[in-house]
Amino acid sequence: MNYNSTRNKNAVVTASQAIAQGISEEGGLFVPQELPKYTLDDIKALAATDYKGRAKKILGDFLSDFTEEEINESVEAAYTAEKFGSDDPAPISYIECGDKKISLLELWHGPTSAFKDMALQILPHLLTKSVKKTYNGKEAVILVATSGDTGKAALEGFKDVDGTKIIVFYPVDGVSPMQKRQMATQKGENVSVVAIKGNFDDAQTGVKKIFTNAEIKNKLAENNMLFSSANSINWGRLLPQIVYYFSAYSDMVNEGKIQLGDKINVAVPTGNFGNILASFYAMNMGLPINKFICASNANNVLTDFIRTGTYDKKRQFYTTISPSMDILVSSNLERLLYHLTDGNDKKVAELMKALSENGVYTVDEEIKAKLDKYFWGGFCDDENTKKTIGSLYEKENYLADTHTAVAVNVYNQYVEETGDKTPTVIASTASPYKFAKSVLTSITDEALPEDEFAMVDELSAKTKTKVPAPLAALKDAEERFSFACEVDEMPQTVLNGLSIN
Ligand SMILES: *Cc1c(COP(=O)(O)O)cnc(C)c1O
Repeated sequence: MNYNSTRNKNAVVTASQAIAQGISEEGGLFVPQELPKYTLDDIKALAATDYKGRAKKILGDFLSDFTEEEINESVEAAYTAEKFGSDDPAPISYIECGDKKISLLELWHGPTSAFKDMALQILPHLLTKSVKKTYNGKEAVILVATSGDTGKAALEGFKDVDGTKIIVFYPVDGVSPMQKRQMATQKGENVSVVAIKGNFDDAQTGVKKIFTNAEIKNKLAENNMLFSSANSINWGRLLPQIVYYFSAYSDMVNEGKIQLGDKINVAVPTGNFGNILASFYAMNMGLPINKFICASNANNVLTDFIRTGTYDKKRQFYTTISPSMDILVSSNLERLLYHLTDGNDKKVAELMKALSENGVYTVDEEIKAKLDKYFWGGFCDDENTKKTIGSLYEKENYLADTHTAVAVNVYNQYVEETGDKTPTVIASTASPYKFAKSVLTSITDEALPEDEFAMVDELSAKTKTKVPAPLAALKDAEERFSFACEVDEMPQTVLNGLSIN
């Protein structure tokens, strides 16, 4: 199976090239040229195996220039009980609110307590194998600009992986105390973490400039290195996310929650549109899905797009209590547009040009009709997010993080408006302990302790739930990285970090 760019169908690459390269030269994203199709019998076979078995089958069907052994090795190394707390990295919690049946697909049992681990634990294995196939012998240098969750998950994924080095930049005042501590205490011989004196946009722009700086690229080449990307436009991050939708469906069949062939709905708290897009791929491969419910916070650019067909990023940016969804340019939406236009690369290139030049585009009626058929969009502000956390805890005894609560709230709005009671999988994307302060203030009016770790302990004592071990361990972990640089010192910081001049 080959891949082509969303903006140029003639830019065709193998799976390993798509992963090693990350993004196509003209700026488009790589998409599979066809999809493997699964019958109900195929799904039954998936249901008969475990998460690793399901991952091996699905990844194998997409990564046709990988050997079976390479796929097996990658999957076995990624989804261990040691890293995910059990043999099931993506368990489901079932709750019934009245006659609504909700399956909360918990994707946060990995090392960094957010769903990014589901992809970033396996990406390093896929990436090093891809680099070996396409740029044999080179060392991959991963540069990441992060507003919190991605940076830590990428560090944990790439730490001590042979043939890679990783450098993460974060805005010095732009991440939560827990996220900062997670990164500053990161272990591994091949990792560096640098705070920059600027905001997230400065970090992101700085990284993009380094990626395209010819002089730096040449210096890397002289030292047998190349830059690579771990952000969510890389196909190697999207593909592993398809697995958990098939896995959730399989588990629901096995546990008698649905019959094989029954349709489900999927509700996803959405930022860059990667997670929800993975479920859309699953449907196009044969998974019986009825509706995709796209949940946003106050940055509701996707809600407006789904409802009106106009994507308009020229609007106020809000900093919310669900920071991983604070985003105005949802990069993976480009892949959806490609598929909804039946692969019209010229049209996609046109829309993306309009977005970058004018900050806005409108899709035609044909695309809008397909959006209506498959998607429902809604949003939830901070106040209602907190109310949802409170009532989920009070009524269902389920402790949700801020991102998951946005999805639950929007799902409730959907049922209210449509009356559709199809069993629904809601993606639960982070541990409540990662956002302890917001969660704690949602379930109690009592005065809060000052310190982040005191809040974590308080949340645990109050709810009698367990703090994830990696977060608990942070309290006494040794701080390794305290270096901060100016934005214009980023290129030299990268060269120093790689010991090249
Ligand atoms: C990244 C993230 C999201 C958004 O996922 P996308 O794939 O970017 O849509 C939602 N919740 C949490 C906790 C995240 O870290």
